[in-house]
Amino acid sequence: MEDKSIFEKILSREISSNIIFESDNVFAIHDINPVAPIHILIIPKKKIPTMNDIEDGDWKLISELVFTAKELAKEYKINDTGYRLIWNTNQDALQTVFHIHLHLIGGKKLSWNF
Ligand code: 5GP
Repeated sequence: MEDKSIFEKILSREISSNIIFESDNVFAIHDINPVAPIHILIIPKKKIPTMNDIEDGDWKLISELVFTAKELAKEYKINDTGYRLIWNTNQDALQTVFHIHLHLIGGKKLSWNF
């Protein structure tokens, strides 16, 4: 049996975290190490290791993640000022948790440094 991802442990409450949104398919938490005043992770309940692993049947799930990000941007009042949505994939993008998650980042003027 494969190890649970940190996000599965948060979802099952083995690790405490502030779940700020939950639906049948997705949930959202504040990032433990925020890079901006607003840094939220939107996560599918189904574990998909990387964006390379999404399949045809995941269209609706991926849409729900994006739609949830849009709603949370409005709720956290960064929809007008602006925000960034990021999916890190594998080592060059510094992916550290192999359970896909959409970063919603905003609340300040973001730089574009790589
Ligand atoms: P990645 O680098 O894989 O795109 O992003 C993983 C994110 O998960 C990082 O920004 C990291 O700070 C966050 N993270 C890792 N462990 C935890 C945790 O236990 N709780 C929360 N809230 N965020 C976490």
